[in-house]
Amino acid sequence: MNFLGKAKNILRRTIDCIFPRCCVICNGKSDLGEYCNLCSSCIAKIPWIRGPRCSICSRPMGDGDGELICAGCKANAPHFRSGISCWLHTGTGRDIILALKYRNADFLKKDIGVLLKNNNPEICEFASDSSLVPVPIHYFRRVKRGYNQAEVIAQAIAKISSGSVVVNALKSKNKKSQTKLKSGERLLNVKNMFECSAESDGMAKSRRVVLVDDVSTTGATVRECCRVLYGAGFENLHVLTLARG
Ligand SMILES: [Zn+2]
Ligand SMILES: [Zn+2]
Repeated sequence: MNFLGKAKNILRRTIDCIFPRCCVICNGKSDLGEYCNLCSSCIAKIPWIRGPRCSICSRPMGDGDGELICAGCKANAPHFRSGISCWLHTGTGRDIILALKYRNADFLKKDIGVLLKNNNPEICEFASDSSLVPVPIHYFRRVKRGYNQAEVIAQAIAKISSGSVVVNALKSKNKKSQTKLKSGERLLNVKNMFECSAESDGMAKSRRVVLVDDVSTTGATVRECCRVLYGAGFENLHVLTLARG
């Protein structure tokens, strides 16, 4: 470690002594050195998706080997080739997403990267040599929140893989937020909600593109984003979400 690295370490430890870091979920003491804002007890409760799952929507499936595709994805195939979700949108998995979205916890970026690297190395491989495209949020929402949570997640993943973030490849048009809508309403509302921006022109059409979002519930948003990207000529499309509803 060079002088600057040592100095940063000393400064960080001094600040930690004066202002002990708390877990953003339970407010307990953050007791694991490499995590800044999560405690070991909350980390142990994250409902990771492991074992056989649908290779398109990450739906956990009973038994099976090789590439599994669930009945829903077979009946209604999306424009992306594969998808992966890290954990279920329940319990602590949901709490982390809610903190990221509604409690100004974009500082969780480093924790998310470390979490994925330590618990789900498959993610690093999935994102490698890819353009990571965050699902955009509407301009006013972004101004209110101060950041786009999907972009924070994409940056965390870029840190632990050889993927690179293309922030503005997609733009959100003026539509209602999906959050409070029911399943059927989401499908209608999301139609024509996104468009490719000039930023996407700089990406080679053969490039592996990984669309990144915080949570996929009905899959309507990621399907629509990929439909737009596919329409613009991108075919090597994949989806990565932190949580699956
Ligand atoms: Zn905790
Ligand atoms: Zn599926």
